[in-house]
This record gives sequence, C-alpha cells and structure tokens, in this order.
Amino acid sequence: MNALFLMTILQAVGPSGRPADYLGFEPGTDSMLADWKQVSGYMNSLAQRSRYVRVDTLGRTTEGRPFLLMTITAPANQERLPEIKRAQAQLADPRRLSDAALADIRAKQPAVILISNNIHSTEIASSQMGMTLAYGLATDSTLRRLLDSVVVLMIPSMNPDGLDSVVTWYRRYKGTRYEGGPLPWLYHKYIGHDNNRDWFMLTQVETRLVTRMLYKDWFPEIVYDVHQMGANGVRLFVPPFQDPVNPNLDPAIVAGINLVGVQMASDLYDAGMTGVAHQQTYDLWWHGGFRSTPTRHNMIGILTEAASTRLASPITIPVDSVRQPGRGVNYPAPWAGGTWRMGDIVRYELIAAEALVRLAARDRVNVIDRFVGLGRRAVDAGLAGNPFAYILPVEQRDPESWAALANVLSAGGVEVWRAAEPFTADGRRYSAGALVVPMGQPYRAHAKDLLEPQQYTPVNDRPPYDVAGWTLPFTMDVRADVVNSPFNANLVRADSVVPAPGKIEGSGDVFVLRNRTNGESQAIAALLSAGQSVTVVGDSIIVRGPRARAILGEQAARHGFSVTAVRNAPPDAGRGRTRQRLPRIGLYQPWTGNIDEGWTRWLFEQYGISYTTVRDNDLKNGGLRQRFDVLVLPDAEASSLLSGSDTTRIPLQYAGGMTERGAEAISAFVRGGGTLVCLDGSSNFAITRLNLSVANVLAGEASGPQVLRFYAPGSIFGTVLGGVGTGRVASPVTLGVPDSLKVYFESSAAFTVSGSARALATYPSQPLRSGYARFQERLEGKAALVEAPVGSGRVILFGFRPQFRGQTHGTFKLLFNAVLLAAP
Ligand SMILES: [Zn+2]
Repeated sequence: MNALFLMTILQAVGPSGRPADYLGFEPGTDSMLADWKQVSGYMNSLAQRSRYVRVDTLGRTTEGRPFLLMTITAPANQERLPEIKRAQAQLADPRRLSDAALADIRAKQPAVILISNNIHSTEIASSQMGMTLAYGLATDSTLRRLLDSVVVLMIPSMNPDGLDSVVTWYRRYKGTRYEGGPLPWLYHKYIGHDNNRDWFMLTQVETRLVTRMLYKDWFPEIVYDVHQMGANGVRLFVPPFQDPVNPNLDPAIVAGINLVGVQMASDLYDAGMTGVAHQQTYDLWWHGGFRSTPTRHNMIGILTEAASTRLASPITIPVDSVRQPGRGVNYPAPWAGGTWRMGDIVRYELIAAEALVRLAARDRVNVIDRFVGLGRRAVDAGLAGNPFAYILPVEQRDPESWAALANVLSAGGVEVWRAAEPFTADGRRYSAGALVVPMGQPYRAHAKDLLEPQQYTPVNDRPPYDVAGWTLPFTMDVRADVVNSPFNANLVRADSVVPAPGKIEGSGDVFVLRNRTNGESQAIAALLSAGQSVTVVGDSIIVRGPRARAILGEQAARHGFSVTAVRNAPPDAGRGRTRQRLPRIGLYQPWTGNIDEGWTRWLFEQYGISYTTVRDNDLKNGGLRQRFDVLVLPDAEASSLLSGSDTTRIPLQYAGGMTERGAEAISAFVRGGGTLVCLDGSSNFAITRLNLSVANVLAGEASGPQVLRFYAPGSIFGTVLGGVGTGRVASPVTLGVPDSLKVYFESSAAFTVSGSARALATYPSQPLRSGYARFQERLEGKAALVEAPVGSGRVILFGFRPQFRGQTHGTFKLLFNAVLLAAP
C-alpha cells in the first residue's frame, strides 16, 4: 500500500475509526441517516482497521447491491473460522457427534450469535445502531474480552435496497410537512413488509442468502431480529412472547427465549431505561418470520420491537396519550412520556444487543449444550414416530409444485431423500422417485410444522399475531402422506429436485394441453407472446404448427408436463374460443405501497406473463379498453382504491387514489368488453361500482360484538368447483383445475350470487383445513370465486388470495387462467 493511498483511507475513516468520523455525525442523531453506501463503507473500513472485524459479501440484493455479513470475534477466533464453522455444523447435527467429540468442541468453541438489523426498512434505527455496536465490539476492552467466547455475526441491513429507498425519501422531504412520513411504494421491490414473511417459502434473493448462511454455513445458536413497531405504545417489547406456543417448539426453546429476553430487560433497567414490556402482541404460534423460523431449527429466536419515531425525526407524546399497561411483572417501569428520538431507540437496542453478547459469553457452555440437546431430542422424537416420515409420491398433479415443495424444505436445511427403487410404507406401495422426509432429523420441527395441518387454539379469545395456518401440501396442492411406522427403502439424498422432463407424446402437428400444471400456463404465455394462436375447446387447449412444437417441447421438458400430439384437430375445435396473442394485461399499482400488487407482479414475472403497471393517472385518463384486455386490481379496501392517501400524509402527486374518474374509467372498460380481475378486498369495489348481482356476506361482520363475528385471520379452506346445486360451471378461469381445491383465506370475502353472476367455487360444510376460523359454518354454501358478466365484458372476483405470499402454487392457476384465458 503506498503512502498516498494510506492517507486517503485515514482521511476517509478519520483518526479514531469511530462511526462519527466516517459519517460526519453520530449514528442516531436527529434527522441524520446513513444510507447503504455509508453503512457498508463504514463496516468495510472498520474491517480494514480491526482484526476483530471481518466483512463478507453473501451475494447481491434484488436491485444488485452487495448483501453483507459481518463476523466480529477475537483475532484468535478469526484465524480459525473454518474450524469453528465445521464444529458448529457438528453441533447442529448431533447424529454425527460423539460425546467425546462434543467434549472436545465444548472445550474451545465460542458461542455463535446472529444479530440482524433493519429487515423492515422504515424501522430504521437498527441500521444506524449496527455501526456503533460494531465499533464498540471492536474497540471497547470489556466487550472485546467477551469476543474470546462469542462469535457475533451481524447483518447490517437485511434489505439494503429498502434502506436506500427510505433514506432517499427522508432526505427529499426533510424540512417539509412530509418529513418522516410514509413512502408511496414498497421498500422491497416485490414484497415490501412481507420480506419478513418469506422465511420458509424463500421466494426472494435476500431470504435465500440468509437462509443458506444460517442452516448450511454458520448454524448460530441464537438469532436476534431487531424491529420497531408503532409509536404510541410501550417503548420496547422484549420476550417472553405471549401465548399460544406452537406445538413443535421444544420447551427448552421457549425457556431459552425467555432467558435472553429477561436478561435484556434486566440490563435495560440497570441502565435506567423505562417502558420495557413482556408478553405483548407477539406470540410463539407463527411460522415464517425471521425470529420464528430459527426456533424450528433449534436456535433461540429473539425479537425486540422498539416504539418508532418519524424515521429520524423525533416525536413528542404526552404521558396520557401513551397506550401502555399499568405497572406489573410484565411492565415494571411505565414510560413517563415526552420526546422520543431515533437516538433513544439506538440506545435501547445497543443495550439489548450487548446484553445478548454478554449472556452468550457467560453461558457459552449452556448455549452449546442446549443446542445439541435440542437437536438430539428432535432426532429421537422423529425416530419414535408420530409421524415417522412424510412421503411425497412421484405421482402428482403438478410435478413442478412437488419439486418446489421438496426444494423449499431442502433449502431450509431439511434432509429430503429419494427412493431409488419401489417400496412399501404403512401398507402403501410407492414408485421409485418418491421423496421421503424422515422426521428423525435435527430440523424435524421445521419440516413437521410445514407439512402438517395447524390447529390454532386462541388464548383469551385473542387472534394470532400473524396467520394461523401454512400447511404447504395444502397451499401447494401436493400429496404428502403421513407414515407412522418405520419402513425399508433404498434412499439417496436429494438436495435439489427437478421434475422428470415432460414431452410431446404421439405424432402430428396439433397439440392438446390439459392445462393441469402451472408450467402449462407458462407455456401458454410463451406461445401467445410468440404470436401462436391458442384455442380453448371443452376442457382442453389446442395449438398448432412447428413453432408451437418447438416451444412446447422445450417447456414440457423443463416443467415436467406432457402434451399430446394428434394429426387432426378434434371435431369440435371449430367451436372453441381462439386467442391470437397475449392479452394486454394491466396491473394496478396504487400509491399506497400495496404488498398484494407486489406479489402479483412477482408471480407474473416468475411465469413469464407480461403486464403493464397502471397508476392512478392512467386510470383517470380513461380510454382503458384501447390499451388493455385485462385489468387486475390487487387486494385493497374500496375506500383506499378510490381515495388513496390524503395530502396530509403524502405529497400531492401521490395522493387521492383513482378517484371517481378512475372508477368510472374502470366501469367503462368492463362494459366495453374488458375483463376485470379483483383480488380479495377489491371485489367489494367492483360489486358496488359495477352494481353486480353479488354480495359479500362477510362485509357486515365488521360490526357487532367481536366474539359474535366470523373471523379467520390466515387459514386454509376447502372449496368445491361450481355453485350450490349447479355442479362444475364451464369457465376458462377453472380450466384444468381439480374439482376440489384448497384456498388461502386471510380475513377475506365470501359471496352470494344471483342473476347472471355465477359461482365458480363454493365452500362446503366445515371448510376449515388448517389454521383457525371462528364460525366457519357461516362460509358453507358461499361462493369463493365468482364470474359476473357486465355489458360486453366480465368481472372475476377472488374471495381469497390466489397468490398468497408466493406460497399457494395450488391456486396460481386460477389467476393465470383469469388473465390469460378469460380475456375477450
Ligand atoms: Zn418489523
């Protein structure tokens, strides 16, 4: 390194290496925010200066920024990181760990903890706090001593794209009435706030990078996820969580979480802080968050939630406006009210994080032994049966969904095996290729919780914190058999599963698709995009010619479906409906940061379905029928679609929603022959605006005493195709879909129909399959999916979430059909 370059570094970092020297302000200072370039730049500069700090790039974010992992520990540990990681892998899988090896590892292995900051980008304080924490760990002599016994992994931001998005927005409106206000778009390109609901489905790159590091590379014993909540309540939530406790959590996980939470609270009170609460809001039921998925991997999962400010701007709350419980064992020091600053959050979070580091160092041996004990008990419980294994037979309606389910488990660290030969289990015969998920493995809880139905039981009539059910064989429509007795089979590990390549069977230049798989929808999109005409006849889709053969051959091989080739089109083909090109699809994106819109956009891109984003001004300008064949409205309340956010919250150009003019334009679009697809809440908008002969019977449930209301927060229900007494109704929307179908319902809609409106799918009696529902009988006979003609167009109402969080492979098809096949 030459002298000039060294000088440049010293100037950039400053003589002391403090964050303030690098940034020009102390992290947590009012109205000052470091963006990702500054945060990552500081962390890299610290790694250059300190032998305690190492920075690795795990990969790139959705928008291409570097995604960083810091490893902070004593230099002697830094020098043997590969050895420490190998030992962590052994501790994580006690099947390969002898008592002697454990004793050997225990003698010298540090505890490994992970601190993850800023997954929710507007919960901004932790992105700033991380720099002060890293500097303190690297330089403070007391903290440094702890690092002989602990490896601190830290992710400075779990969503660097979102950090930049928020900081840019904050800086732009600083000093105006919109300072610290909400963004009009999502802070993750596709899924916004749902980036913390992706931890088993792993649809996004950031989730996959961290998951790989957790369950395949580092295996930390404790994971601490740092969040913020609303501004007006308690100052900081720390565990214990509130009831109920998921049945798959080992009691030692629950107690371990409690220990850490109480240690954090204790240190906060020693430092004179107030307003720290336990057993609030956040439960131990839910699976899918960053603090909950590790608990199914024998890791202690910690969450703290600090009261927010307006991003970096302080707020003042008089004490009588603070929503806080009275003094008690879960809240011994109420907050006195007053001014609350980002710097306060940073202070609380620093104390909590340092408490964790101290606890991990002090309890190092217990931390290691507990981790091993949890793994051992998981393996033993699985070997004891109940169940012994799950089997995913190779015969599935959609082989790609089957492969996707296996790969979700496998990416989450679960061992999946493939049968090399046919075998018998619990009296059933399975073909070679069947996938086996044995329960006698360390991450049993993760696999079991994802494969079994949930039965949420409320405590004190309380709803679950997030959704109540998530059973993947139901949402993905994949057959998964429970096996209770041990069996013999010739198994090989299957780390990544691909469907057996499909092909074109028969001969001729006319091709018949049954449209039973999502891959066929992707193929239809590809055919239409290439200008190939597609004809729907009865329950088949027919395409012709050598170009179609080339596209179908390639798609069938990749997605595992088969196509029948025939010489002559079936005699009724002339009566079919033919599409000549891809429908022009408009997807409405309100300026309210609509997550359902983001998921829809993501799904369309995954399946090669081209769309155009439609904003308020496009709607207000009218003439929609000239531009589009299909319009998709994401889940949103009718009032939000119409009025959006008002100008007290958001700058004028983003305020006001689609307005009456936009609503009128949509109405004209449908009457003029367009297809309007309404997802869940937006159905209410269409029912009213287009005067449909449809009623949402659950709309009235919002009033009346809560205990008398229908309620289903996020659950899986069975449906049967068709209406009451009508049987299956011919419609392109349900083409190729099985007669009974499980749908994802999250405080959704249910319909009665009359006149020309038709029910395409209906709830049977006792429809709940997984999760929770109060008064589920009220759904019986109600329609879940409706098609209603309006003028020369039509409206398709989804009373559920066909693409819920990217999980519901079993109902993607309905949305694909609605946009690809139901258009004029
Ligand atoms: Zn959060």
